[in-house]
Order: sequence, then C-alpha cells, then structure tokens
Amino acid sequence: MSSINPFEMAQRQFDEVAEQLGLDAGVRAILRRPLREFHFRIPVRMDDGALRVFDGFRVQHNDARGPSKGGIRWAANETIDTVRALATWMTWKCAVADVPLGGGKGGIVVDPATLSVTEKERLCRGWVDQMWKNIGPRMDVPAPDVGTTPQMMGWMMDEYSKLHGEYTPGVITGKPLGGGGSLGRTEATGFGAIYTAREAFKHLGIDPKGKKASIHGFGNVAQYASIGFIEMLGGIVVCVGCYDRHDKKAYTYSKSTGIDPHFLMSITDQYGTIDKEKAKQAGYSIEDANAWIAKEVDILMPCAIEGVLTAETVGTIKPSVKIIAEGANGPTTPEADAEIKKRGIFLIPDFLCNAGGVTCSYFESVQNDMNFYWSKDEVLGKLDEKMSVAFKGVVAMAQTKRTYMRNAAYMVAIDRVATAMRLRGWV
Ligand code: GLU
Repeated sequence: MSSINPFEMAQRQFDEVAEQLGLDAGVRAILRRPLREFHFRIPVRMDDGALRVFDGFRVQHNDARGPSKGGIRWAANETIDTVRALATWMTWKCAVADVPLGGGKGGIVVDPATLSVTEKERLCRGWVDQMWKNIGPRMDVPAPDVGTTPQMMGWMMDEYSKLHGEYTPGVITGKPLGGGGSLGRTEATGFGAIYTAREAFKHLGIDPKGKKASIHGFGNVAQYASIGFIEMLGGIVVCVGCYDRHDKKAYTYSKSTGIDPHFLMSITDQYGTIDKEKAKQAGYSIEDANAWIAKEVDILMPCAIEGVLTAETVGTIKPSVKIIAEGANGPTTPEADAEIKKRGIFLIPDFLCNAGGVTCSYFESVQNDMNFYWSKDEVLGKLDEKMSVAFKGVVAMAQTKRTYMRNAAYMVAIDRVATAMRLRGWV
C-alpha cells in the first residue's frame, strides 16, 4: 500500500467535483464522511489453543439509494482510512452502475496466508458475531474483496442465518455456487472491466483486435480481465504484475508474444502468488514491480491495489498508451491523475471500470430474494448491458460538461445519490 492516505484522496476527488457542481453545503457535509463506522475486536481461539484478538471494521458510507454494499478485506496493513475510502467509492460505484444500493466496506487486520482453514472460519464467524445486528439484506450486504473468498462468504452467511434464526442468503454476496452464489460472479469484475474497455475502444474508433494490454495484478480481477481481453476482444496481454508472498516483493511477469492466463492461473497459489520457477521455465521474463507501467502497449489496466500510478511512476507511461482502465479501487494518486488528464489519455475511472463485481452481487441478491437462479449467459448478458449503459452515461456527461472522465463519473454518481437524499428528505 502506498503512503498516500486513501481517504484524503477520496475526499479530494469529491471536493473537486462538489466545487464544479456547486453542490449544496448540506449534501456536501453528508457525503464527505461516512454515515456510520464500526470498530471492534474479534477474539479467536487459534489451533494451538492460544487466544488472538483481531481488529475489525465496517464502514457504511451512505445508504440513501439502498442497503450499504461492499466487500470485506483481509490485509495485514488494513487501516480505518483505507476502509473509509473504499466505502465512499462503493457509494459512487453503485450509483454510477445504477444499482439500488449504497456504499460500505469492511476489513480485518490480518494476513490470511498466516491462518489455517479452521482459524479462517472462526475469524469469519467472529466478524459476523460482532456485526450481525448492523448488517442484513435490507441494511448492509458485505461481499468478498482483497484477501477474502467465496468460501468465507459461505461461512459468514451461515453464521448470520444461525444468529438471525432463518436462512438468509441475501445477507452477503459472492457466495460459492450451490451455497446461494450466482453464476458469473467470479468473472464479473474482470469481465465488467473488459466490457468498459471494449466500449472505450469503440468510442475512440479503435479496433481492439491485436491490441496490447499491460495488466497489474493477478488476483480475481486481473485474471478475468486477462482472459476477457484475449478471448472477448482478441487482444494480447503482454504482462501481469503480481506480489510474491514468499519474498514479499512484487514482480512483473511478461511475455512479448502474450501471456497465457490459464497457464499462469494453474501455477498461482490461492493467495495469488505465481510460482516463479515454473513461470521462468515456460519462458516468462520476471521484471521489477513497476515494469508493467512502462510497457509499449495500447491499454494499461491496474487491476490490483490502490496507489500504484503515482507522481514517480506516471512519467514512465509510454506514448502508445491510449486508454487506462482502472480495474482496481484507487490505483491512481491525484498527482498522477493530473498528469494523465494533461496527456489526454482516455481514462475509465475505477468505480465505473470495476463496477461489474458489485453489479453481479446485486444480481445475486435479487436471485436470493426470488429463490430462482439465472444461467451464466443470462447473468453476463445483463452485466454487459448494465456496464455498457453506465459507460455511455459517463461519456455523455464528460461531453456535455467538457470534463475529465473521472469527474464525469463523480458527477453522474453524486447527482444520483443527492437526488435520493433529497427525495427522502435528508437535505
Ligand atoms: N469488493 C468488490 C468491489 O470493490 C465487490 C463488492 C460487492 O460485491 O459488494 O466492488
């Protein structure tokens, strides 16, 4: 994680647009900070009999448009400010995608790779034991994020259902298939980013076939963004960037003829670390962490963590780059953002680009409510439509207001949230 405080970054972005929109002071005061925050401690009996106490958070930024929605992150360097920023971005994400949900985010300060399966299960149940009175299908609906998995969502749903006294699959999304999950949820964030990238190429009048992408990350989002870029758009992915949990360093794994995401997935462990030796044997070059930024490609897709395009790294972006599609939350610092804007690179801002995950989560909760499940094609078809409409709405705003794509996305989102607050009589 970068040294930039992500919540300050989220507030700076909001303030800039609030100013441009001449937003009412009351609306601004509500939206600048989360409505509710929960800080709690979770005691867990470890496998060796010792008791460990973990710090947990849940932030509900805004629920004017519907129940708070957003993932739970497990990270050793988790902070309340990161969770606040991510909860704020969830409000804008749900609004820009036009799903009837608000914004929330949760976290636990823990490196999941240090826990056994049984310890993970106890920690999941412990988080719910602390929060269950303040989450629910009509209140706040968590989901997976960095460091959490569908299996963990399944345990959390089970704990909530036990405490609540009734099977309640809609309390959490991103659940496993057969355990209340939706087909297409695994692919949704990465594919959603590709649907917006496809629309961006179309908007710029470029045929994506044979075009090159450099992707940062190799977790869930980057994996399916890579597959989608190759299989849906006919493009070439020249590298992915990935953290190695063994030596605690990040690397870029590249192949100029194009990486094979299915092969790389077969040599990636459950925490997203690629087996370096096997990659080398298969002809991949292993370069330093930021090498992905400086590749001669058409599109850059930061699909891992926040704060990677910074004042220091932005200058290495090659003139060949026409599009930046932010699959991650908050990958670009305000300084780097100013530079990208100046250079006229077409930006698909994070909360638009990666809205596919939460949009599919919304479909999951709808299916849970109906107790009737759609086919994968139906889910992905609906997702493509939602993402394409959202993309076009932001482009239309950017053209009408003659503004940068990030600001346009904020304008669409803030307007929808402010309207809901007004209609409910909050302001
Ligand atoms: N964690 C994902 C995000 O940042 C998905 C959230 C959800 O499905 O609620 O968008």
